Amino acid sequence: MRPPSLETLFQPVSALAGVGTHLSKALTRLAGPEIVDLVSHLPVGLIDRRYMPKVAELDHACMATLELTIEKHEPGGRGRPYKVRCRDETKFIDLVFFNVRGPYLLKQLPIGAKRLVSGKIDFFHGLPQMAHPDAILPVSERERIATIQPVYRLTAGLTPAMLDKMMRAALVRVPELPEWQDQELKRRRGWSGWREALSAVHRPESEAELLPDAPARQRLAYDELLAHQLALALIREQHRRSGGRPTLGSGKLKAAAIAALPYALTGAQQRALGEIERDMASSQRMLRLLQGDVGSGKTIVALLAMLSAVEAGRQAALMAPTELLARQHFATIDLICERLGVRVDLLTGRDKGKRRDELLTAVADGRAGILIGTHALVQEDVAFADLALAVVDEQHRFGVDERSQLTAKGRGVDALVMSATPIPRSLTLAAYGDMDVSRLDQKPPGRTPVDTRTVPIERLDEVVDGLDRAIGGGARIYWVCPLIEGSDDSDLAAARERHAMLRARFGERVGLIHGRMKGPERDAVMSAFAEGALDLLVATTVIEVGVDVPEATIMVIEHAERFGLAQLHQLRGRVGRGRDKSTCLLVYAGPLGETARERLSIIRKTEDGFRIAEEDLRLRGAGDLLGTRQSGLPDFRFADPIRHGDLLAIAADDARLIVERDPGLTSGRGQALRTLLYLFRRDQAVRYLRSG
Ligand code: ADP
Ligand code: MG
Repeated sequence: MRPPSLETLFQPVSALAGVGTHLSKALTRLAGPEIVDLVSHLPVGLIDRRYMPKVAELDHACMATLELTIEKHEPGGRGRPYKVRCRDETKFIDLVFFNVRGPYLLKQLPIGAKRLVSGKIDFFHGLPQMAHPDAILPVSERERIATIQPVYRLTAGLTPAMLDKMMRAALVRVPELPEWQDQELKRRRGWSGWREALSAVHRPESEAELLPDAPARQRLAYDELLAHQLALALIREQHRRSGGRPTLGSGKLKAAAIAALPYALTGAQQRALGEIERDMASSQRMLRLLQGDVGSGKTIVALLAMLSAVEAGRQAALMAPTELLARQHFATIDLICERLGVRVDLLTGRDKGKRRDELLTAVADGRAGILIGTHALVQEDVAFADLALAVVDEQHRFGVDERSQLTAKGRGVDALVMSATPIPRSLTLAAYGDMDVSRLDQKPPGRTPVDTRTVPIERLDEVVDGLDRAIGGGARIYWVCPLIEGSDDSDLAAARERHAMLRARFGERVGLIHGRMKGPERDAVMSAFAEGALDLLVATTVIEVGVDVPEATIMVIEHAERFGLAQLHQLRGRVGRGRDKSTCLLVYAGPLGETARERLSIIRKTEDGFRIAEEDLRLRGAGDLLGTRQSGLPDFRFADPIRHGDLLAIAADDARLIVERDPGLTSGRGQALRTLLYLFRRDQAVRYLRSG
C-alpha cells in the first residue's frame, strides 16, 4: 500500500483548483496525469523580471518590467498592429499586439489606469516598444512579478502564466517526507531535504542552478537513480534468493542441432552461449540479458540453451510479446527440434478447449520439452513437469511481474531475457542495474549490407516510380510515415493520406498499419504482408519489433530527418533479412540542420547497432535519448545517466548495500526507502521484499 504521506502527490492534476477537463488534458500531455508528474516537470530556463527602469532609461533590447499609465488605444487593421500608447513620468511607449480582440485589451488595459507590464523591449524606428507583454498586472502585484521566473517547456493549450499558476498550486501540496538518503552522503554533498530541493529547482535564481550539477538537481537525480537501482536490486535479490539448481546438459541435442544448421555459429554466439551454459550449470540462479541487434541470431542461442535444459531431463519456455512473434519463434524452433525428437508446443491466448487441454497435459507430464507462447504462458493453469529455463523475448515489453510469474512455474528457474535494443555500454548499468549481460556484437556472416541512400523529398515522384518497377519485379516494401510532434491524430492523418495516394497508384495490394488498430486487426494486416497478399505496407512507426518478413527488401522512411538514430536503425532492421539485396531510402526535407545531417550520414555508413547507439549518445546527449521508447532506458525525469554518471555509480553501490543489510526494508531508513520506491512508481519492487 502506498504510504498515506504520498496521497496528495498522487491525486490527478484535476484536483488542483481551476483545472477542468481541458487544462487537465494539456497538463497530462505535458507532464503526466498526477500532481507528482507536474512537480517533476522542471524548468529549462529563467526570465529575470527584476529590471524596472523608467521608459526614458531604455536604450537596448532587454527584459523589463514597467509601471505605466494607459493613454489611448489605436486599433490596427490591414496588416497594422493594434497599439496601446502608455507612458510613465519620463516618456511614452507603445504596447503592440497582432491579431487581438480590442474589447479584451480594453478590459486588460483600461484608459487612465496604471498597470505593471512585463516583457521584452524592442526598438522600432528608434523608439522602444513591447510586443505582446508576458504579464499585465495591477500595480499592487509588484512583489510577485518583479522576480526571477522559471521557464517551462509548454504544450498546446497552455500559456506560461497558466502553467506557472498550476505549478505553484501543485508545489504547495508537496508534503514533507522522511529522509531516505544516507546521512553521510547527504552531508558530504551538502544536499538539502527532498522537499526543499524540489521547491528550489522550481525557483532558480541563476543559470547555474539550471545545470545538472546544481546541488538541488543532483539531489533529486540521485533520488531517482537510487529508486531505480534499488528496485532492480530488490528484484534481482528476490530472484536469486529463492536458490538455483545446476542444469547441466549432455551436449548431445546441442551438437545435433548445430550439425543440422546450415551455418556455423559466430564467435559472439558461441561466447554468449558459453556464458549462459556456465550460469545454468552453476547452483546460482541465472538472471542474464542477451542483447543483440535484430538479426544478430539471438533465437538460435536461446534454442541451444533451451536444449541444455531438455538434455538434463527438464523443460524450457520462451515467452514473446505478440502472437505473431511467438508463432515465428515456434516455426523456427520446431523445424529444428522435430529432427531431434524434441516436442515443442505453442500456446497463445487463442488456444481454447480440447486442443489446449491436450497441450497443457503434455507440458504437465513432461512430454513437451519446450513451450513457446505469448503471456498466455503465465496463466494459472499452465504447469510444467520440471521447468528449468525461462526465456523472455523483447523483455522491455513485459513487466517484472510477468517475468517472475513465469519463473515461478518451476524450482530455481534460470531466466534469460533478450533485447533487440542495443544500448551504449555506459548506459547498461542505468537501464538494467548490474544484471549479467551477454552481447551479440557480431552479425552472422554473408549478409549483404542494406543499400542505404538519402533522397530529398522533392524527388518523391522518382521514388514512387522506382517502387512501381520494384513491385513489378515482385518486391515487398515498407513505407514508414513520420511521427508528428505532440499529436497522434496528425500522424495518423499523414499515414492515411500517403496510403490513399499509394493506393491510387498501385491498387488494392497496398495496406495500412497504425497504432490505433487493435492487436488482432494489426496482426491480420501484418500477416497479409508477410504472406505476400500485400506488396506495400504503409505504417506509422508501430511496425512490430522483431517481425520477420525476409521477402521485404525495400524500406522507405519519409521525413527521415525527424527520426532519432536508434529509431532509424530499428526501422531499417526490418529489411536486409533475406538473401536478396535490400534498399533503404531515407527521404528527407531540407534544409538539414547539423545534427540531422550527421545522423543521416551515420546511418548510411554503418549497420552496427552498438556503434549507432554510441554515436546517438554522442550526438544527442543522454538528455534527449531519454523518454524515447527506442532507447531502452527508463523514462528518467530528473536524472541524466551520462551527466549524472558519478551519482549513478554511487546509487548502484548504495542499492547493493541496502539490499545486503536490510533486504526487507524494515529499518528506519528502510521504511523511508519504501516511500522513495512509491514516489518513483517502483511499487512492484516493494511487493518482492523479503517478508519477515
Ligand atoms: P534475432 O532474434 O537476434 O533478431 P534471429 O535469431 O532471428 O535474430 O536470426 C536472424 C537470422 O539469422 C535467422 O534467419 C537465422 O537463421 C540466421 N542466423 C543466425 N545465426 C546465424 C549464423 N551464425 N550464421 C548465419 N546465419 C545465422
Ligand atoms: Mg528475435
